[in-house]
Amino acid sequence: MIQASTTPSKLPQVGTTIFTEMSALALEHSAINLSQGFPDFPLDAQLIDLVKYYMTEGHNQYAPMPGVPALRKQIASKLKPYHADPFDADQEITITSGATEGLFATINALVHPLDEVIILDPSYDLYAPAVVLAGGNPIHVELELPDFSINWDKLEKAMSPRTRVVIINNPNNPAGSILPRAELERLAELVVSKDLMVISDEVYEHMVYDGLQHHSILSVPDLRDRGVAVFSFGKTFHATGWKIGYTVAPPNITKELRKVHQFVTFSVNTPIQLAIADYLSDPDHYQGLSVFFQEKRDMFLNLMATSRFKPLPSRGTYFQLMSYADISDRPDREMAHWMTVEHGVASIPISVFYQNGRDHKLLRFCFGKNTSTLQEAAKKLCKI
Ligand code: PMP
Ligand code: GLN
Repeated sequence: MIQASTTPSKLPQVGTTIFTEMSALALEHSAINLSQGFPDFPLDAQLIDLVKYYMTEGHNQYAPMPGVPALRKQIASKLKPYHADPFDADQEITITSGATEGLFATINALVHPLDEVIILDPSYDLYAPAVVLAGGNPIHVELELPDFSINWDKLEKAMSPRTRVVIINNPNNPAGSILPRAELERLAELVVSKDLMVISDEVYEHMVYDGLQHHSILSVPDLRDRGVAVFSFGKTFHATGWKIGYTVAPPNITKELRKVHQFVTFSVNTPIQLAIADYLSDPDHYQGLSVFFQEKRDMFLNLMATSRFKPLPSRGTYFQLMSYADISDRPDREMAHWMTVEHGVASIPISVFYQNGRDHKLLRFCFGKNTSTLQEAAKKLCKI
């Protein structure tokens, strides 16, 4: 019999995610949880009623593998403003079990053994392990503080004849930065000249602040042709537990990523797909989100104005980075643990998003919370 202890790990460097770790610690110590990114307010009752309706009406069996057609059609029309050529619901859009599965299926479809994949650090924790499981080599390039911009020299130097894919995350978790259109166009030139593909994680597309706009790779012709954009309804509709998202990619790439999707999960739950198809037909259900979350960001920043934490700009996502360099020189992981246990507020240390563990003394706070949660948390944080 094979012993678990002698089975070589495919991901020896990987432990349990920081989100699981910090949420569990918050629970254990009854701390306010501003660590893992999820709202603590309810989702729209209309959306819940729609799910109930479709369940009661008997829509409880397998959905088609690529997703319910009505939902894919609605997504195609939601995407219309991005590009003059319409998106083909049948050949370009696939419903996935959250952006997580969309990213995993895409990476496993595109990355071949020994391919190099550029990952910009700080990076969301899924990308590098998914690349490793596909047999590829993640090549990490650090973004430049304070605004987490791309260092184009570093990026180009990191490329080799084996480079196959660049992964971007826009708006960026955990940085809270966004990519201006000019940067996307520059990326397009680079990937065309080097014949690469792009995976663009855009789960925070509707959380962009200060009058700025989200620019999708789908709106840049050369990137649309050689890219996969990944989205999440969990984020957009305050329902992270529903685990439903989608990918948008040219037909040839979609065909390949569906081959992985069909064996990871086959299809995504039916009643929620049908409910979201109806709900998406009203753009008011997502167009006001930036205003809604900007109010929360501003409130959190105001509440924190007298604290010793120093905010970095948060232009997108529902995360606010804060420097604690004026408070302590502890490593960020230790600081986040100490604050959870001793001061009752959980956050996420940023060094875990760096392959080399770089510690800028930054913590990430999720402000996608009720006013009372933010007030209570800020009161505790201001005492530190
Ligand atoms: N990408 C990023 C950058 C995220 O923050 C998250 C968490 N929402 C995901 C992907 C995964 O999204 P989902 O919960 O839809 O799987
Ligand atoms: N995306 C969420 C965050 O950044 C966490 C999702 C998860 O726990 N895997 O907080």
